[in-house]
Amino acid sequence: MSTTAKTVGFKPGERNIFFHILTACNLSCRHCYINKAQHGTQQLTREQLAQWMALFADPNKRSNMIFLGGEPTLHPDLPFAIQKAKELGFFVTVDSNGYLFNDLLTRTSPELLDYLSFSLDGPDAGTNDPIRGEGVFEVCVGNIKRAVSAGFQVSVIYTVSRKNLDALHRMVPLLLQLNVKKFFIQVIGLRGKSAGGESAEVSQVSRRQWLDTVPEVARLAAGEGIHVTYPKVFLAPGEKFECAGVVAENFFVFPNGRVYQCPLCEDHPINGYAIQDNRLVKSAGLGESNFFQLNIAEGCVMNKLLQPDTIEYDENGVPLYRISCCLLKQEIGPDVLSA
Ligand code: SF4
Ligand code: SF4
Repeated sequence: MSTTAKTVGFKPGERNIFFHILTACNLSCRHCYINKAQHGTQQLTREQLAQWMALFADPNKRSNMIFLGGEPTLHPDLPFAIQKAKELGFFVTVDSNGYLFNDLLTRTSPELLDYLSFSLDGPDAGTNDPIRGEGVFEVCVGNIKRAVSAGFQVSVIYTVSRKNLDALHRMVPLLLQLNVKKFFIQVIGLRGKSAGGESAEVSQVSRRQWLDTVPEVARLAAGEGIHVTYPKVFLAPGEKFECAGVVAENFFVFPNGRVYQCPLCEDHPINGYAIQDNRLVKSAGLGESNFFQLNIAEGCVMNKLLQPDTIEYDENGVPLYRISCCLLKQEIGPDVLSA
């Protein structure tokens, strides 16, 4: 049995819709990536929810609809949107900060909602709450327990930063105690607040810190029966580089109608598409798609442009490694280990 994580290549014919149905949120996390100047402050109407989802529905493709915000459960029509997404053939996920407003658990069902994902950035209040807010850990863990008891498939998302990297391994016993079998580890993105330099300590970890900690914790969790997904970030020598903007179908939809294919571009008005009058329209002029085809020694072009400090060079100016597409994942877990 292998204990090495498997890189999950982009699957042809699969489509992921990351649907931000509003940008409002009850929390104010220190690494929040929402940028209202770029993403708007609207809350989509019930009609828009249905019409915009239909733009991306394709019965011939495995399509995932991920509802996000802001905090998506603040939208009173989220249960309607979940039902509509299911009718359109989507595999449906909601990413919540844990507050589950508007009685989500009683207004939808595990038959309609395939996964309910909770964000926790620490295994205890002492780690989580300085990042996500006072009292958040207790509320989130309480609602994870309620969701698991009600029969929902639950996953947890942990955004790694310098402030909580050391506590990552302690998530494993917590997840076991909560009976959560799916764990997503994210890398903090330099977008929204993180890009503004507001809090240096809640920022990206170094390559060494990432490689020394994250794969090991993932192996530990997999050994306990938990399925773990985390971003690849660094390509090994000889590993193939692919840009999801070229080889995959990902759409990041915002309530002001902007539709991006690359999440690194979300702070800039270079969205490849826009929804106008309930139609998906390709943007004219210079946009994100102009960058996707560029072939550079550092790997991801947008990372090189927006986060150049993440790359190290030798004395001849040759990059020591390539940065993978931020959407490329590694997976490890009981099902993956035995595959
Ligand atoms: S990261 Fe998510 S939960 Fe936190 S403030 Fe931003 S939208 Fe809200
Ligand atoms: S993160 Fe980089 S490689 Fe991935 S879609 Fe964006 S530009 Fe392409």
